[in-house]
Amino acid sequence: MMIIVGTRDSNIKNGTILNEKCPKCNQEDSLHFNIYRRYTHLTLIPLFPVGKLVVIACDHCKQTFEYDDLSENIQLKLRNEKLNSTPWMYLGSIVIAGFIFFSINNYFDKKEETSILIKNPVSGDVYNLKFSNGYYSNLRIDKVTIDSIYTTHNDFDAYMPYEVDDLNKSENYSNKKVYYSRKDILKLYQEDEIIKITRKQHN
Ligand SMILES: [Zn+2]
Repeated sequence: MMIIVGTRDSNIKNGTILNEKCPKCNQEDSLHFNIYRRYTHLTLIPLFPVGKLVVIACDHCKQTFEYDDLSENIQLKLRNEKLNSTPWMYLGSIVIAGFIFFSINNYFDKKEETSILIKNPVSGDVYNLKFSNGYYSNLRIDKVTIDSIYTTHNDFDAYMPYEVDDLNKSENYSNKKVYYSRKDILKLYQEDEIIKITRKQHN
C-alpha cells in the first residue's frame, strides 16, 4: 500500500463583514470571508488539524487578500467568529492511537501467555524460535516426560519473525529430532530464543 502524507484545507466557515474598508481599494463595502481549517492526512485519512487559512474578498474591487492584510479591527472581528468544531479531523489519530493501544495490550497478553505455557510443555506445542544468527524457525514438541522434552525442528528457517507462523505445517517437520531437558527449555526461554508458543486448542 502506498502511504501519502499531506495537508488539505477544509472550508469550515463563510461569512460577510458589512461596511468595512477594503485594504486594496479603500472603499467601504462588504467583505466576504472564507475560513479554512488545514489538516494533515495519511492517505486521505485525516490525522489532526494544523492551522487556519482565511481568504477575504472585497465586493467592490473583487480582489482577494489574507488575514494579515486586514486592519486590526477586522482581524478581531474574525477572531471572534465561532468556528465549527471539527472532530473528524482527528479521525486518523484516534484510529492509530487505538491500534497502538491494542497492539501493546496484545503484545503483553501474548508475553504473559508464553511465560505460563513454557512452564508446562505439552506435546503438540509449537515454539517459535529466534536463533543467534538472526534467523527464525520453530520446533514442535512430540513427547514430554518427567524431565525431558522430545521435539522435531522445522526443516526451514525464516528471515522475519512474522513469517515463522507460516512455516508451521506438519510436512515441514521431518527428521530434525532434538532432545532437551526441561531446564534447557527454560533457559532458551529466558535467553529470548523462544519468542512465542502456540498450543492447540482442545475443545
Ligand atoms: Zn476592494
